[in-house]
Amino acid sequence: MRPAPPGIEMIRRPEGRRFRFVLFDFDGTLSLLREGWQGVMIPMMVEVLEPIATRLDRDALARLITEDVEETTGLPTIHQMMRLAERVSEVGGTPPDPKAYKGEYLRRLLAHIKGRRDAVASGQVEPDQMLLAGARAFLEALAKRDLVLCLASGTDEPYVLEEARLLEIDRYFGPHVYGARDDDEASSKSAVIGRMLAENRIPGDELLVLGDGFVEIADCKEAGGYAVAVASDEVAGGGCINEWKRDRLLRAGADMVIADFMCRDGLVRLLFGA
Ligand SMILES: [Mg+2]
Repeated sequence: MRPAPPGIEMIRRPEGRRFRFVLFDFDGTLSLLREGWQGVMIPMMVEVLEPIATRLDRDALARLITEDVEETTGLPTIHQMMRLAERVSEVGGTPPDPKAYKGEYLRRLLAHIKGRRDAVASGQVEPDQMLLAGARAFLEALAKRDLVLCLASGTDEPYVLEEARLLEIDRYFGPHVYGARDDDEASSKSAVIGRMLAENRIPGDELLVLGDGFVEIADCKEAGGYAVAVASDEVAGGGCINEWKRDRLLRAGADMVIADFMCRDGLVRLLFGA
């Protein structure tokens, strides 16, 4: 096999595919605004379970919860909270409506990311500093081609819209920005992929998905698409691969792995030809 350009780990080449529909995940794939959300969600869940799950020590509990969160990354937040409610029932507790958990999680997360959002909104920090390296140039290159670009996220839609605007990338996606809506199944990533393919009469092999979550990579493969895993190290940056993400995304069926979009020239050539 010919060597892939630097920064690209090739599992299966996209040879012969002509992509028309490109779906991006938002958090961790393009946006860094919500970096560290797991560090908010996991401790909160441990806090909920610890007083009830008396048979598990804190470490075992943290491992169990981390696994739950990993498996549900990419699903609407409410699904992650539903899993927590199941865990509470399993150990004999009586969980509240998962929406209550979600409310508390969002309160904590918004406090955690407020500084970043404010810094961009006030012009103190350039939008591109809160994007993965090379992301804007990659989006620009794609916008010049005859492609439908779509942004899909498990985060609530009003936040996705607001943060995409804040980062000045909303313009690349036009009306195709999808987030979770009132915890409605029809707004999940799989549903969005299915609907976009059906509405635009696009066969699965014309679908390209870029994401850092298990769910979107698995959904893409399920639909017959080509999946680029963005195994971004959101903290270190600088082209570093997050090995944990890489591992999971390869298991989800990823066809190619990148750390960020600094390899954009090679990536565009590989995906779309000269
Ligand atoms: Mg993501």
